[in-house]
Amino acid sequence: HVDRMCNECGNCAVFCPYDSAPYRNKFTLFLTRDGFDESTENQGFLPLEGRKVLVRLDGKVFEADLDGQNQLPADVETFILTVLKDYAYLL
Ligand code: SF4
Repeated sequence: HVDRMCNECGNCAVFCPYDSAPYRNKFTLFLTRDGFDESTENQGFLPLEGRKVLVRLDGKVFEADLDGQNQLPADVETFILTVLKDYAYLL
C-alpha cells in the first residue's frame, strides 16, 4: 500500500475479493514523516537518509539500518529492500 497514492476512499475494502481492507491492512510505504505519524494504525516504513528506514511493526516504531544489524524480521527486510530496489519509482 502506497500512502501518498491513497485518499482512504475505502473502495479497496469494499471490492477486495478477500476479507480485507487493503488500505489499512497492507504494509505501507510512506513518503513523509507527517504521513507516517498520522497513520497510526498502518504498519509500514518510511525511507530515511542513507540506508535507514523508520518502521512501524507490531505496535512498535523503530529505525532500522538496512546495511547493518537491525530488528527487522527477515521477510519484512526482504520486502523493504525489494521495494527500494525494484519499485523505486514509487518513492
Ligand atoms: S482506500 Fe483503497 S481504493 Fe481508495 S485510494 Fe486507498 S488504496 Fe485506493
